[in-house]
Amino acid sequence: MFYNERAYGLGSKRSVIREIFEYGKKRKKEIGADNVFDFSLGNPSVNPPEKVTETLKKMLETDNPTLLHGYTSAVGDPETRTAIAEYVNKTYNGGLKPELIYMTCGAAASLTISLSAVLNDGEECIVFAPYFTEYKVFVENARGKLVISKPESGTLQIDEMDFESKITEKTRAVIVNSPNNPSGVVYTEDKIKILCEILKRKEKEYGSVIYLISDEPYRELVYGNIKVPYLTKYYNDTIVCYSYSKALSLPGERIGYIAVSPLMTNAEKVYNSICGAGRSLGYVCAPSLFQKLIASCVDAKVDVSIYEENRNILYNGLVEYGYKCVQPDGAFYLLVKSFEQNADLFCEKAKKYELLLVPCDDFGRIAYCVDKKTIINSMPQFKKLSEEYNAK
Ligand code: PLP
Repeated sequence: MFYNERAYGLGSKRSVIREIFEYGKKRKKEIGADNVFDFSLGNPSVNPPEKVTETLKKMLETDNPTLLHGYTSAVGDPETRTAIAEYVNKTYNGGLKPELIYMTCGAAASLTISLSAVLNDGEECIVFAPYFTEYKVFVENARGKLVISKPESGTLQIDEMDFESKITEKTRAVIVNSPNNPSGVVYTEDKIKILCEILKRKEKEYGSVIYLISDEPYRELVYGNIKVPYLTKYYNDTIVCYSYSKALSLPGERIGYIAVSPLMTNAEKVYNSICGAGRSLGYVCAPSLFQKLIASCVDAKVDVSIYEENRNILYNGLVEYGYKCVQPDGAFYLLVKSFEQNADLFCEKAKKYELLLVPCDDFGRIAYCVDKKTIINSMPQFKKLSEEYNAK
């Protein structure tokens, strides 16, 4: 082989989501964009906050563009890291310190860096199903092994019995993603407390450290009174992997951060390991313009009510048509239970009605970050799909 076989395997196979998205593009050309209901991609459909757009414009008017676009320090701009720590501490009482924050190109980079920083060869990382499928790629790239914990059926919350049974001497990390992609579920504070108690007990039992990695690109996208527990308050060995991709509708700009809890065992050493992993992966100096933007816009918010309205129309309609779904409290995804055993076949059948869903365990994932019009116009199609199954 004159190239790396694993890399070739990953690069030559398109992800299921991309396949469906490409199919949607083709189909839109054939029958018109309004007639295809593409729920495949998690691309925000709400504009970035006005404050973000205005700040960007002002920043570009600078008389010192060399400074604006220049390298920052490898770990990120000190002002940005200070602004982030202050915001998180004020809003969530997270106890962060700027000197333990590392700026990254979004959550994907935060995760690959963090996993490379803490996993040794063959060590295990537990994820909770249903989970973001890229975790497998990220964990294996860090030479770790992905271990899947099954959720509570019905609620898709953490199943503590199953979780505990998956922990071994080799467990080095656990990824929690709440609000969750693909379910939209927010793990309750009770579940988080139970999870953290189990972890503390297991750390003692094995005399080791198990890192809790909080993957939270959707933290700000929650509806009603729902609160997303801030994990550093419950467990010392926490690493927060944050991203502004969805929080500020800036997914293409690639900006986020890693925060190591100051209460962590050997926090400085772990932070140095994160710096080393970032360096070896080539993830130094996250996009300069957007680091500086974040320093002024840490408290900016997208209009979550737009997603909430989509969620309500979709969820209420689907339930009325006989679909089983877990009500999402956050993010912009909803899972519908497949009407047949094989979710691939179910999603294939949905295509007949121009509904593009992503198969996920025994569900179809609907990314409802689309125009309200698309949701409204898709509802009769969902009705027909349900009727086709009920007719049998
Ligand atoms: N983690 C989850 C659960 C996601 O859904 C995504 C993107 O959709 C990511 C991480 C990666 O986010 P980013 O665009 O910030 O790299």
